[in-house]
Amino acid sequence: MTQNILLLPGDGIGPEIMAQAVRVLEKLKTDGLDIRWDDALIGGCAVDATGVPFPPETLAKCMAADAVLLGAVGGPQYDVLPREQRPERGLLAIRKEMQVFANLRPAVVYPELVEASTLKPEVVAGLDIIIVRELVGDIYFGEPRGIEIRNGERVGFNTMIYSESEIRRIAHSAFKTAQKRNKKLCSVDKMNVLECTQLWRDVMIEVSAEYPDVELSHMLVDNAAMQLVRNPKQFDVMVTGNMFGDILSDAASMVAGSIGMLPSASIDANGKGLYEPIHGSAPDIAGKNLANPLAMILSVGMMLRHSLNQVAAADCVDAAVKKVLAQGYRTGDIMTAGGLKVGTVEMGDAVLAVL
Ligand code: NAD
Repeated sequence: MTQNILLLPGDGIGPEIMAQAVRVLEKLKTDGLDIRWDDALIGGCAVDATGVPFPPETLAKCMAADAVLLGAVGGPQYDVLPREQRPERGLLAIRKEMQVFANLRPAVVYPELVEASTLKPEVVAGLDIIIVRELVGDIYFGEPRGIEIRNGERVGFNTMIYSESEIRRIAHSAFKTAQKRNKKLCSVDKMNVLECTQLWRDVMIEVSAEYPDVELSHMLVDNAAMQLVRNPKQFDVMVTGNMFGDILSDAASMVAGSIGMLPSASIDANGKGLYEPIHGSAPDIAGKNLANPLAMILSVGMMLRHSLNQVAAADCVDAAVKKVLAQGYRTGDIMTAGGLKVGTVEMGDAVLAVL
């Protein structure tokens, strides 16, 4: 049966890197993969066209698709808009509407890019970890929230909240992810201060009984941040809540080197997912053929693997990215001594040539 992909290029470098991802999809389709795609608006371009960052037509197309591929959203011109109209609200909305609660963020150091990390080569060489971040709950969505006047001064407040069932479902995703890898899962919380994360730890321990082959450990988030830059290779899979995961996964991405190399997957209970590079819309380099399209192309790989069940095609895409790095092709963000500096389109050409 034909599998339907929805493309959401978004803003800034989004359309440029999406164009390279589409070339990869076209090649896979020519080679026999039964896929078709459509596109829609999200983020700033959607605000410009419709007044809202996540229009109802886009939501309808997301619901009808088998997988959604997103570029990036946002730009300085939108920062003055009321909060509900900001492009980033579109991102929160799509995640919430699709109920993609499990965000998988691999941080992999390719041998050719060891020098791109700011950490010492011996600390990062061979790094291959995944952070599983809960994506649709926690303090980012908790109510009540707001800024109001109390006792004559402004008070800002948010609510950190997780239900047992929300923790349980992300726990299962994390344990299953660990089962496919080195069977080590580290759950990150702040149970010494926050009751919400005491429950997180309790439920993680309960669920671990169903996965006797996976070794579960726990770490407080402050220590986890430290350990990620001290000795990241001690980890295999880490699982944590939305806010801690937001911060830790960005730290992990820098450990891995360029932000332009890292894809992500956000998956719902049925395996349907939203796939996107972890970086933003990079307005500083948009429209200049400077953006690295590899995180976007690796997101296609994750989509093929996790939602479309096309493991062989996913392996091909991942291998093609490895090969172009081995061949020396580099965009500016991952440029290393002796590398062959190319732009967005030329990096796409190189991947296509290998594919
Ligand atoms: P950013 O990730 O867009 O850029 C950070 C730095 O990394 C910039 O110097 C940029 O040039 C560089 N960079 C990012 N992606 C790159 C790539 N593929 N190739 C080469 N260099 C790359 O983060 P920012 O500057 O903080 O945010 C810019 C806009 O993106 C903001 O509006 C922000 O809200 C939005 N944003 C969107 C997402 C998303 O769509 N998922 C994520 C983060 C930020």
